[in-house]
Amino acid sequence: MKDIIIALDGHSACGKSTLAKAMAKALKYVYIDSGAMYRAVTFYAMEEGLIKEGKTVDRQLIIDHLSSINISFNYNSKTGKSETFLNGKNVEEIIRTIEVSKFVSEISKIKEVREKLVEFQQRLGKNKAIVMDGRDIGTAVFPQAKLKLWITANDDIRVARRYKELLEKGYEVSLKDVQDNVEQRDFEDSHRKESPLVKAEDAIVLDNSHLSKDETLKRAIDLAINAMK
Ligand code: C5P
Repeated sequence: MKDIIIALDGHSACGKSTLAKAMAKALKYVYIDSGAMYRAVTFYAMEEGLIKEGKTVDRQLIIDHLSSINISFNYNSKTGKSETFLNGKNVEEIIRTIEVSKFVSEISKIKEVREKLVEFQQRLGKNKAIVMDGRDIGTAVFPQAKLKLWITANDDIRVARRYKELLEKGYEVSLKDVQDNVEQRDFEDSHRKESPLVKAEDAIVLDNSHLSKDETLKRAIDLAINAMK
């Protein structure tokens, strides 16, 4: 069995990261959450006042600040999970808020932001044995990935899952807010100029609308083992 790169792409809240984490654990691979990187840049922009009047993103200011943004991942042995750090500060939880979600697609449209993060993602994949999820992993980051999965689930199920997840984390959100945000990000991510969200031609579709987490994982692992031969 050879080490491979596994790329998971798909719309917001389709279960990519849950599956990617479980696959990495089962295969003893490294899991990288590329969305966390875009979220960390967005959080930085919010903290530094680079979003004008709390509404519009100042593209040039963000580009000017890029060299001051350092993102890393550290393994937390207590939780058994990898956590996102921004300039040395743990931002794993705060980058998941709906406030960050509202601006992240705007930030991820910026070519220079993508160039910086894609370069980092490619460096992390140099030794293979990696599972990475996002929007352009199979098309732009690792077009050579041995296994590309396009994860999908129907719209209502995706929104309901994300809503439940945020409530469980203790955030006060309405179902409508979550629905609007998922729709807005899906639209913006699919229609941007730079590496839009699109299924790679050679990606295998995995629709988990009516599958349990274990069933989805089993299918994905079977595909991975096949791709490793
Ligand atoms: O995966 P997650 O929902 O955390 O991603 C947040 C946002 O980051 C996406 O809506 C998208 O705008 C951006 N993103 C991206 N390319 C990736 C991963 C995420 O543009 N590879």
